[in-house]
Amino acid sequence: DLNVHFPVNRGLFKKSDDYVKAVNGVSLSVNKGETIGIVGESGCGKSTLARTIVGLEKPTSGDILFEGESITSYNAKQMHQLRRDIQMVFQDPFTSLNPRMKVGDIIAAPLRAYNKTNHLERRVKELMELVGLNPDDHYNRLPHEFSGGQRQRIGIARAIALEPKLIICDEPVSALDVSVQAQVINLLEDLQKELNITYVFIAHDLSLIKHIADKVGVMYLGEMMEMSDSDSFYRNARHPYTNALLSAIPLPDPDREKNREQIVLNGELPSPANPPSGCVFHTRCPLARDYCKENTPLMETKGSNDHYVSCFFPIESDTLDEFGKSVGKQPD
Ligand code: ADP
Repeated sequence: DLNVHFPVNRGLFKKSDDYVKAVNGVSLSVNKGETIGIVGESGCGKSTLARTIVGLEKPTSGDILFEGESITSYNAKQMHQLRRDIQMVFQDPFTSLNPRMKVGDIIAAPLRAYNKTNHLERRVKELMELVGLNPDDHYNRLPHEFSGGQRQRIGIARAIALEPKLIICDEPVSALDVSVQAQVINLLEDLQKELNITYVFIAHDLSLIKHIADKVGVMYLGEMMEMSDSDSFYRNARHPYTNALLSAIPLPDPDREKNREQIVLNGELPSPANPPSGCVFHTRCPLARDYCKENTPLMETKGSNDHYVSCFFPIESDTLDEFGKSVGKQPD
């Protein structure tokens, strides 16, 4: 169970005992060559989880195993070695690419950092070709001369330069136009086949995750609500929060109105820093009271003929049906 809790600073010198539970008891495993998708709304802890896996955040408690070895207590030297095997691709490559560095140098930087400088220029050009950049034309250009999609290609070339085993993709296409998104996703998939890379793929876009991921985990308020392989995730999502997310996908399905409820989130989007308070079922449903944690988020659901409120919290799947029967259809 991985926990990453940040202390909350109240003013410059006033520290409080409060913590933002950015990642709260999360447990997951990824097999070699597989893509695991992590979805969830903004602020649910996806990036913190990613940053912790690559060692940029230290877990408050819990462990991270890479090829069976605990990496949480690695020293700086071991961490340096590990960073060769685990790379990251970020949402906005522009902020992660040095604006004053030529593309060739950006891609060469990790190779230089690990003294892999034999035939450096040839290797960089190979990498550029692999990600669909033009080695002759683009080698000496600066990042601002490129479109968003091309910049992401530069970021990807840099990430694969050291032939990593795992790449954490943190919303890699969220900032791109839809048509360019498809190209970058295709590229990531091709590279996965070619280089046998494992991906942890973070996104808020469920249709994208459906396309790319073998397994999908849904995060909410720092917790992993549900984890399943992507087929059963879409067909038999167990958790009400997952269903709410799925129902929010604008599917071109004529029966959609009939089958799925319209979901309305109440008020400000809850996050670990801004947890919702109270639970409406405390007064309505005796069963819910047993399951609801403090600060259970609420979601209002409007169906065609009914209007009810559900709440979301981690729950054992076998008790979910029982719970759904007694709570899911509570009339307003
Ligand atoms: P996501 O990537 O899903 O949008 P994040 O992992 O960035 O979510 O953030 C999860 C929560 O942790 C947010 O409420 C955010 O404000 C908080 N958080 C993230 N990093 C820090 C930090 N370094 N210090 C304090 N709070 C943080």
